[in-house]
Formats: sequence, structure tokens, C-alpha cells
Amino acid sequence: MKVLKLKKHYLKDYLNVLRNWGEVYGPVKQEDKYIYGLLDDLDKLDTRMLRTILPAKKFLVPPRFSTFTFKDHSYEPELNNLPNRVVFGVHPCEIHGIVILDKFFLERFPDPYYGERRRRTAILGLSCVPDDKCFAKSTNTHFAEFGFDLAFNDLDDFYLVWVGSSLGDDLIRLKLELFDEEIKQSDLQKYMEWRAWRDTQYKLNLDLTAMPDIMELNYESPLWEKLGDKCLACGACSMVCPTCPCYNVQDQIRPNKTEGKRERLWDSCMYKQFALVAGGHNFREKRSQRVRLWYTHKLKAFITEFGKAACVGCGRCIDTCPVEINVKTVVSELKGGK
Ligand code: SF4
Ligand code: SF4
Repeated sequence: MKVLKLKKHYLKDYLNVLRNWGEVYGPVKQEDKYIYGLLDDLDKLDTRMLRTILPAKKFLVPPRFSTFTFKDHSYEPELNNLPNRVVFGVHPCEIHGIVILDKFFLERFPDPYYGERRRRTAILGLSCVPDDKCFAKSTNTHFAEFGFDLAFNDLDDFYLVWVGSSLGDDLIRLKLELFDEEIKQSDLQKYMEWRAWRDTQYKLNLDLTAMPDIMELNYESPLWEKLGDKCLACGACSMVCPTCPCYNVQDQIRPNKTEGKRERLWDSCMYKQFALVAGGHNFREKRSQRVRLWYTHKLKAFITEFGKAACVGCGRCIDTCPVEINVKTVVSELKGGK
């Protein structure tokens, strides 16, 4: 993989050049939180961001979008006018989240809407330093080796920039003169020291060994009733999780009843209606059943299916759930409070 250097004071110049390729988004502070916002003014960029409220999945699977319009007996897919986008500042755990979405929407259930947005979205990673809610080292998602187009590693006065795809290479060539192609031994040394230091910064470490077995053994545990009693079924955990892929479909039909559009919206298995089927039967009527399903998906089913948990240790559920149901508390309870 090709690696270059970019002096820090050139970052905004470079992001400015990327506007020739597409809309440029990045971390922007909003009150005491961060979002991925449009960098129409590059002074909005705030690289101190640790986690955004919504993950970068919102660019690949928007919270609500039209899949096609229809009129009489014909329909028109809404795929042609999607913009090119650059998303800068995506942390390694989130890149792993995107790799999980790729497995889902490119391999297992090929989805043209995801595929087209993925093709038109350049993912520019950025290194980070964890807080007390990050546990990406425990999920082995604290470094990303693929899944990005460019990845910037902050080494004080410069970035080491990894080129992860041919699109990334094209984006570098838009302004190659800003980059230094010579990596010195001292740069490598600095990077290795940074890695070792950063490993020591993880304060939250979760042992996820044998989680599928532990989940299986706890299938009938009273823990799920206890969690179900607390859960508000608000769905916030699903909205903020970089790996939650579920969506609903609804038609918006105009009053003439012959034209309209079909929309896709983020959904959550924490909602009561999620498993409601025609005839009124609900496969997961109880909140306890829905909480159990959510954690079965994250900590058991995905590992069994793909060999990896569907949790990338980003800490968003820890930051978001109003009643402290999150991977940290649930794993601890599943292990008997350890
Ligand atoms: S389960 Fe929680 S910590 Fe894990 S990826 Fe989802 S939001 Fe992040
Ligand atoms: S676990 Fe927390 S965030 Fe998720 S639905 Fe229940 S109350 Fe909401």
C-alpha cells in the first residue's frame, strides 16, 4: 500500500481541491457533540472529534431516501443523480463498520442503492485517540487496513497518508504536489511510537472471547426481562450504531393514486412494530425479546456467520442509550457482573 506525507497546514488546501471531485463532508462541532457536516466553509472542520452522533453509514444508507418514483405502469429508479462525496475524518472503527455494511449490502444482499452510493463516496479515514467509551482495541477494529480510499494518521505536524484504493490514488493525484512521497526512517519510528502509545490509551477493555457461547447459554436468562423492563424502545441504539442495517419501506402515493415514490427509512428491531406481520401476530412483542435479538445480532449471529462481531467498539450505544443498556453493561451482565 502506498504511503505519503502531508504537512498539517496543507490539509484544508487539499480538502479544498477535493471539492473538484465532489461535496466534501467532515467532522463539525454542534454544541457539545459532533456531526459529519458539509464543509462548505473549511473553517468548520474540527479534527478533535472523537465520535459523531450518527455514523458515516448515513452517507451510504441515508436515514430516508426515495428508491424510485412511479407513474401509471412505469417506474424510474432514483440512482442517476447521486452526488460524488468525500467524507473526511472517518475513524478506524467506523471503517470496520463500513466493511460490515459492505458484506451485508454488497455481498449477502446486493443492493444497488448502497452500491451506487458506496461507489460515489470517498472514505477518508483519520486516526483517533480513545476516550473512556471506546473499546475498539477489544474488537480489534482500532486500525483499518482496508475499506477506505485514503487514511490520514495524525503525527503532530504531519499526516502519514495511506492510499487504500485506486480512487484514493486518483484523489491524491488531484494535487500531488502537496504530498511528500519520501518516508524517512524517523517518520516510521514516530509512527511506531505513536501506535504503541495509542494502545496504552484504551481505558475500556471488554473481553468478548466466546461471546456466541455465552449468549447461547444466556438465552433463557432473566437478564433479558430485566433489560426489557428498562428499555424505552426508542431505537436510538440502532440509529447511532455503524453496523445496524435494518430499514423499512413505504410508498408515498399522490392523491391521484397513479403516481408516487417508494421510500426507504432506517428501522430498528427495538421497535414494537418491527416483527409485526399481517394478521396481527408479533414475533417479538416483548421488549425483552427485542433487546435479546439486538445483542444476539451484535455478539453471536454475526460472529457465527462472518467470524467477527457486528460491534466495532465505537462507544455510541454507551454515549446514547438513556437507560445505560449498551455493549459494556450487557457484556458485563452476561458474564455475571464481571
Ligand atoms: S454496538 Fe455500540 S459500541 Fe458496538 S458498534 Fe454499535 S454503537 Fe458502537
Ligand atoms: S436499549 Fe436504550 S437506546 Fe436502545 S431502544 Fe432501549 S432505551 Fe433506547
